[in-house]
Amino acid sequence: MDEMKNETGTGPARDDYDVVVIGAGPAGTTAATLIAREGRSVLMLERDRFPRYVVGESLMPATYWTLQRLGLWERVKQDGFVKKHSVQFFSKGGRSSTPFYFHEFDGHESSQTWQVDRERFDQLLVEHAVSSGVEMRDHANVKQVLFEDGRAGGVEVELADGTRRRLTCRVVVDTSGQTALISRKLGLRRIDPLLQHASFFTRFRGAWRGEGIDEGATLILASEVDNCWFWYIPLAADEVSVGVVGHMDHLLKGRVKDPQQVFAEEVERCPAVAERIAAAEQTMEMRVMRDFSYVSQRIAGDGWVMAGDAFGFLDPMYSTGVFLAFKSAELAADSVLAALESGDLSGESLGRHGADYLAGMESMRKLVYAFYDPGFSFPKFLKMHPDCREPLVNLLVGNVYHKSIEGLFESMAKMCELPEARTLDGQGQPS
Ligand SMILES: Cc1cc2nc3c(=O)[nH]c(=O)nc-3n(C[C@H](O)[C@H](O)[C@H](O)COP(=O)(O)OP(=O)(O)OC[C@H]3O[C@@H](n4cnc5c(N)ncnc54)[C@H](O)[C@@H]3O)c2cc1C
Repeated sequence: MDEMKNETGTGPARDDYDVVVIGAGPAGTTAATLIAREGRSVLMLERDRFPRYVVGESLMPATYWTLQRLGLWERVKQDGFVKKHSVQFFSKGGRSSTPFYFHEFDGHESSQTWQVDRERFDQLLVEHAVSSGVEMRDHANVKQVLFEDGRAGGVEVELADGTRRRLTCRVVVDTSGQTALISRKLGLRRIDPLLQHASFFTRFRGAWRGEGIDEGATLILASEVDNCWFWYIPLAADEVSVGVVGHMDHLLKGRVKDPQQVFAEEVERCPAVAERIAAAEQTMEMRVMRDFSYVSQRIAGDGWVMAGDAFGFLDPMYSTGVFLAFKSAELAADSVLAALESGDLSGESLGRHGADYLAGMESMRKLVYAFYDPGFSFPKFLKMHPDCREPLVNLLVGNVYHKSIEGLFESMAKMCELPEARTLDGQGQPS
């Protein structure tokens, strides 16, 4: 890390920047890097001390394109992360689907992706941002975005020693993750009524692992409880990330306070997980998170734009988080650069990519709804519609704009109820 530009706990070098980015996750680092690379002054403020733990280890293959654009693909390749070639689904009874290999319809090198330790992965992104010219400050908690006459013009930040600074900028990029600073402040968050879930998760060493090309596969295993499922994500150093997701009423209401016990009870309801971790040692404390899905009514306003979880979050079922963070940050960076160039810093200009981005996110949301529909199963669906395997694999890869997915949802809607696509308030329709 460039120590000159990230002295933990010290204040920003200046009082005014072209762009202030809030949060140094995949969305913040991507937007900051792409904007700084074009010669703009960019300050990235991160509340936590880096490196920091964060959930979300499984990447989608389509993250390849952002990593390539950032110039990080080769670096990530060398880092010893576990190779992920497929995802496989298990029914309540433990019956498995044929693995969905990402290379089935396209053998491009992007069809292999990674299971990453986010502490390490996000640190790589931060180091790369700093070497691209971003000024990074961690231990820097943004308390509020400063608005004047409805236009964002800066932030107030609290530093490690408790002092506060007010900084000005031309554009605020909100990539504060689920903190969703601007969306909460302006009351823009719309929570998905059907996807109000919680997760309990931890890591194990010495648990079952697949072999060869399947060693790094993500497994999605349904539990005996309706709409409850486990992820099983092999990591480096013989560790596996295991988490259970279920409706918050089931996982939280009236349950004992000890998360360890709740997790153990849920494992008993999923024999396919129980047998895989029976001889393993737990290596991380049990963590609990509400993982409600939501989307903001707007993606940008005068002087500000959001990306990643700060704009919207989708159930972790298909490991979409980092991909969506990357994609939305790339699009936001392009809009910010064009807006700075033209001098038009209106919400319309900064959010011009919003409708197209949301349309891609909505395709993944439909697939999430299908999974939770009691009438739907992948094997049953593919038996009836073998021609849909290609578009399905395309979605699991993250090719959310691929022409092959157009007919997929028509066939799916015959088997389960799919949601209406959401749109943004006053920010146009997808092109
Ligand atoms: C249970 C669960 C499992 C998941 N599994 C996966 C998975 O397998 N694969 C996947 O791709 N995704 C997964 N995700 C989603 C993934 O973790 C996120 O979508 C992804 O990290 C979003 O990136 P981001 O940059 O938008 O936000 P984050 O990675 O959350 O980064 C936001 C940053 O902003 C900082 N911040 C917040 N508030 C402030 C503030 N006021 N001032 C300064 N800094 C601030 C935070 O400290 C944080 O570092 C999962 C999510 C959950 C809940």
